[in-house]
Amino acid sequence: MSATFLPYGRQAIDESDIEAVAEVLRGDWLTTGPAVDAFDAAFAEAVGARHSVSCSNGTAALHLALAALGVKEGDTCVVPAITFMATANAARYCGAEVAFADVDPDTGLMTPETLDAALARAEGTARVVLPVHLAGQCGALDELAHAATLAGAVLVEDASHAAGSFYRGEPVGNGRYSAAATFSFHPVKTIAAGEGGAVTTNDDAVAARLRLLRSHGIERDPARHRRQEGEPWWHEMHALGWNYRLSDIHAALAHSQLKRLPAFIERRQALARAYDTALQDLPDTVRPLARTRACNPCLHLYPVRIDFEAAGRSRSAVMDRLRAHGIGTQVHYIPVNEQPYYQDRYGRQDLPGARRYYERTLSLPLFVGMADDDPQRVVDRLAQVLGL
Ligand SMILES: *Cc1c(COP(=O)(O)O)cnc(C)c1O
Repeated sequence: MSATFLPYGRQAIDESDIEAVAEVLRGDWLTTGPAVDAFDAAFAEAVGARHSVSCSNGTAALHLALAALGVKEGDTCVVPAITFMATANAARYCGAEVAFADVDPDTGLMTPETLDAALARAEGTARVVLPVHLAGQCGALDELAHAATLAGAVLVEDASHAAGSFYRGEPVGNGRYSAAATFSFHPVKTIAAGEGGAVTTNDDAVAARLRLLRSHGIERDPARHRRQEGEPWWHEMHALGWNYRLSDIHAALAHSQLKRLPAFIERRQALARAYDTALQDLPDTVRPLARTRACNPCLHLYPVRIDFEAAGRSRSAVMDRLRAHGIGTQVHYIPVNEQPYYQDRYGRQDLPGARRYYERTLSLPLFVGMADDDPQRVVDRLAQVLGL
């Protein structure tokens, strides 16, 4: 094992990132300046969408996306049970209810079948379906979009994990199957801004609404003001928005990291292949995440499926022993429908795929700065700790 501790994820900051941030600090704008517009343009181009609207974090991106689409009380948003809780919370911020969809126990992803079951429970109130690209991998977006359309809903992709991933040969976030896609630039995600997020969309009206809502609903275009008296200080609030702006400091870091995305993709894919190869030598007790068709992921996490019962070891004991050997692991995620807040609201729900996924999952270290032989070492240690 390398001497340093291997966390399950960490950012990769180099001198070009530091220089990009320092340049903003030497300039005139710390927020609402040119670095934000430059990043928005570059991110839109990178994912092949007409618009990208950056914001303060990935949670704000989800909230903005749903608000810009007009999600409100009386509506339902379909959210897979296996996700970070922010996906569901964004629906609640808008006053909408959440219908939790079960997931495939081998991928952790919502499927057309589990979506249909959740849509049936929503009884005609579903407005938005939020597929979550867990670990960077997406499911059958074409089929999910089809099922959503039949129910009178649209897709909003929670692509927080999927910067750099491809679906049917095209970048995730290009909006081919969705009204919008949201990203997070938290340090453990593929692009790190410290805190940051973005919504991508091809819809001009949705993009205008996103820009309005991220800064208090203030209309910046004088041509659209209702009062036209030419007073230079005049501004108008046209909707109830928030301060969800990304600062120029964060935007500069995100933009610099975006330039490194092709190298990040290559590195993450090489490390994932090294893990895949190392795991082939292990018995069925440990399996990699099952892969979906048509997706070429840039994995943000490397989750494995472990039959802890068959191994006769508890997950917490395995995590403790790995930690003692300098290997950090994490569990992504506790089914959100089992969180007390949601259980109080909706009661207990039996989602057996999510339960089974949760009981077996463990995320192994995956980040750009890992050494070539780290995956093999992690897998060897995991096998030893599991008694395989
Ligand atoms: C990280 C994450 C978010 C929220 O992003 P923040 O930038 O931390 O607010 C939302 N959904 C998923 C699936 C995430 O992993």
